[in-house]
Amino acid sequence: MERSFISKKQLIVASVFAVIVAGVIFIAHNWPVSKLVVCDVGQGDGIYIHLKQGVDILIDTGPDESILECLGREMAFMDHTIDFVFISHAHFDHYGGFGAVLKRYEVAHLYVVPVYTGAKTYVRFINEARKVTKVHYIHGQEDIPVSPDVTFHIIWPDAQWLTREYTDGQNLQKTSKDMNTFSTVIYTTIEKTGILLTGDTPFDLLLHATASIPKPVPILKTSHHGSRTGLNERLLNSLKPSLVLISSGKNNRYGHPHAEVLTLLKSFDIPFMVTAQDGGIRIDFRGGRWYRRPSF
Ligand SMILES: [Zn+2]
Repeated sequence: MERSFISKKQLIVASVFAVIVAGVIFIAHNWPVSKLVVCDVGQGDGIYIHLKQGVDILIDTGPDESILECLGREMAFMDHTIDFVFISHAHFDHYGGFGAVLKRYEVAHLYVVPVYTGAKTYVRFINEARKVTKVHYIHGQEDIPVSPDVTFHIIWPDAQWLTREYTDGQNLQKTSKDMNTFSTVIYTTIEKTGILLTGDTPFDLLLHATASIPKPVPILKTSHHGSRTGLNERLLNSLKPSLVLISSGKNNRYGHPHAEVLTLLKSFDIPFMVTAQDGGIRIDFRGGRWYRRPSF
């Protein structure tokens, strides 16, 4: 009868190998890397950015607590501080999850546009936020350094656009205009990769706002959940993105993303990802390049 056995020497070699593999996996998993995650928050926007220097940023919070699952997965286990939260505009699908975020995390700085629709929930949100965090009103073009080597350029709304609606900049101003036209548009570069985050801004304003930013812009979070109000041929020709990210909910009642937008992207041969189909979308930035990670 043949007997198979493992010698003591083989066992030691296998154990050492296993420890090395485990070590490599652990280091790879914990190696500081900058990343952008479009969280699957259903119908809304919730984008998490981690910078390798240890900075955590949230652009919009989605409508509810669904943002927490994404943050729980993407943030370091012991990290309970979000350094910057930007709320693009005063629509619930962009700020509704802020209360849930506060239950689990401290927020150091909150940036909002001081224009709203008159909804009491938005006033409540600002007042509650003031109790626990530093609230900043965005006053038009500003450069906000979020780490020693990353700056968020607020390229919309510009000061002129805002002053048509409010004068003192210290108080919330009600508007009957389309709230989407007040969406905060952020241009930034991480590891030399240009990124444009657009809120729900209409494409004509985006075209105007992005006139002077460097092109092409490799990563575009397209506006308004893939609505046809947020993207057109001229904008695509101008930005020339390498990847378009769309945040929308499954079977949402607005029909986002619009079939025309998807057809347009296909005709330009630009890859795109939609949270409604792909789930959460993650991009890593390393060594001056970006990498699309598997969806989750
Ligand atoms: Zn929206």
